[in-house]
Amino acid sequence: MEALTEIDQIFINGKFVTPNGTDTQDLFDPSTAKVIGRVRLGDATDADNAVRAAKAAFTLYSGYTIEQRKSVLEKIYHAISANQDKLNEAAVAEYGSPMAATKFRTSLAAQFFLDASHALDEIEFEKKLDKAIIIKEPVGVVAAVTPWNADYIHMCGKIAPALAAGCTVVIKPSEFNAIETQLLTECFRDAGIPDGLINVVNGTGAVVGSALSSHPDVALVTFTGSTQTGKTISRSAADTVKRLVLELGGKSPNILLDDCDFEAAIPRALLIAFSNSGQACHAGTRLIVPEHRLPMVSGLLTDAVNKLKIGNLYADDAQIGPMVNAQQYQRVQSYIQKGIDEGATLLAGGPGHPDGLEGFYVRPTVFTNVSSDMSIAREEIFGPVLSVLTYRTEEEAVSIANDSIYGLSAYISSGDAEHAKQLAKKIESGRVIINSVVNAEPKTPFGGFKQSGIGRTGWTYGIEMHLEPKVIAF
Ligand code: NAD
Repeated sequence: MEALTEIDQIFINGKFVTPNGTDTQDLFDPSTAKVIGRVRLGDATDADNAVRAAKAAFTLYSGYTIEQRKSVLEKIYHAISANQDKLNEAAVAEYGSPMAATKFRTSLAAQFFLDASHALDEIEFEKKLDKAIIIKEPVGVVAAVTPWNADYIHMCGKIAPALAAGCTVVIKPSEFNAIETQLLTECFRDAGIPDGLINVVNGTGAVVGSALSSHPDVALVTFTGSTQTGKTISRSAADTVKRLVLELGGKSPNILLDDCDFEAAIPRALLIAFSNSGQACHAGTRLIVPEHRLPMVSGLLTDAVNKLKIGNLYADDAQIGPMVNAQQYQRVQSYIQKGIDEGATLLAGGPGHPDGLEGFYVRPTVFTNVSSDMSIAREEIFGPVLSVLTYRTEEEAVSIANDSIYGLSAYISSGDAEHAKQLAKKIESGRVIINSVVNAEPKTPFGGFKQSGIGRTGWTYGIEMHLEPKVIAF
């Protein structure tokens, strides 16, 4: 039997130290459900020690020039890039993400630091007016709280803009990614940057997350996770009027217009819905199709689901991995059952494991005859479950798309891209992607309308969230 990986230290002021907290939590290989490690969890004292270190480092770092900050960001970029193989192995083992997708995400995570360095050139840090100057100053110590889906992306996506702005960071990653977190933190340690710029405290949300989000010396909380936790964090941050950047849940619509190329749009719809095994905030989980096309759409969907490559995570063509943990597995199963109980038609997949696979794998599932009031059309499932809804007019398609508390991403397929752009303006969403799976333009903001969040990440937008404008009038 292989030895368990013990993660028993946290990272404060440039050093790995033993936490004050003594509770532990098991870590699993989600493709087998076997325990592969254990993490020792920090507590509120650890959170406080980390904030002190970040506060002390801020006095020095906030005075760094833009060129010095760029050098910090680029050193971290190189440290992560040099360790990609190790990081990828850990993400496949601990998170169950297929290797091909993992490689893409790890390089994207490193790229955040390079992008932040380049974005600094486009920010006007000092603007001279006739009788005043406006300067932009770093807000202070930033607390970052991140989820388990794509650990590196979320950690780097929070740390890079904060450091670019001149802030220092305490991060509480998800307690389910401790092995990935440890390896990434070793990159930060080895990057050759000043102590205290990045501090990492493992722990639960209820203990470390809430200690950070209410800590008087934290100026801004940047959070990615569920809308429910985002609301809790907003409440604990309110007493000290902290700045907030919230990246929350989604139930993104994918509208297929009558003139689209259905042969292309349907396999794309599955990529959009089942990206990261469905554990993606931007997943297009509501497929909205013309009513008279439903028989054809159903046929294409069944074929496309049957072609999905599930399991065998190291194969180049692997597409779908397991859910991250037992709770998430149960959650997805319960939504599949709810879909059946509420009267939707099961077109593909269904309850239980895919044939021949155990662990936390679920069957990629598609429901038709879904109405907007069903749980599977309203609530974020965070697993590979797609709901198909139908419309008769474009107005109705837009109204179904907007009938959600969320507004993170939306997708349109159409043979007329100009028409789709006009339609996109009517959709309540932080972004609308036309005839594609991804937004290929990196110099854009990412974030949500409505209960999908507050603020934006990406390019200069993410950095600006960490800056306070100050006017000096004379
Ligand atoms: P979660 O909200 O359960 O946890 C996220 C983080 O918050 C974890 O680190 C957790 O420990 C911490 N936390 C929990 N309770 C807390 C509290 N009371 N105070 C402070 N911190 C607390 O989310 P999850 O299950 O880890 O991730 C899935 C969710 O994340 C989904 O809803 C998904 O849509 C969302 N998400 C959003 C985006 C986005 O960019 N909008 C991206 C990825 C994931």
